[in-house]
Amino acid sequence: MDPYPKPLRTLIKELRRLPGIGEKSATRLALYILADKRGLKDGLISALEDVRKVSLCPQCFNLTDQATCAICADTGRDDATICVVEEPSDILALESAHEYKGRYHVLHGLVSPINGIGPDDIKLKELVERLQAPIKEVLIALSPSVEGDVTAQYISKLVCEAGLNVSLSRLASGIPMGGEIKYMDQVTIASAIRYRRTIRENV
Ligand SMILES: [Zn+2]
Repeated sequence: MDPYPKPLRTLIKELRRLPGIGEKSATRLALYILADKRGLKDGLISALEDVRKVSLCPQCFNLTDQATCAICADTGRDDATICVVEEPSDILALESAHEYKGRYHVLHGLVSPINGIGPDDIKLKELVERLQAPIKEVLIALSPSVEGDVTAQYISKLVCEAGLNVSLSRLASGIPMGGEIKYMDQVTIASAIRYRRTIRENV
């Protein structure tokens, strides 16, 4: 017989849905939340309520709780450069390097035929739409992996097909193959941005 009341069992079940959380960890966390040390329960409830207000920025698809994200709203940034990243956490990593001053575009995934993720499943179409405005450079800051390379090739193909007057570059080496940008240190990221290589010249 399950010794726990139904609400606690439900909480354990929900916590188990989190990545890396098994039955034992979920139970331990649920019991800890239940113990309510230093008002943890109320803190969690209000944080979860607030997080509902977070949505995607309609311009760059970064996370925001405002009409646009903080980076799009910043008038001091370079509008002529767009840095393409896989997910919002990559922006945090790149920003921590204090090297890049342009705009961003979050794809929310990478093209991965083996996992059934095609170019229409990520924000590629939206990127090409943004490139209709005068953009000088697209910096592709995708992790060096098979999916990162395939996605970079797609971007290159779409830019060519659309006949856009924009140069493409990728982060320089220093990011190890298979390494993820969000886990890189600031110095590595800063030099990878500074020494980025052009993969397509502005035509
Ligand atoms: Zn934005």
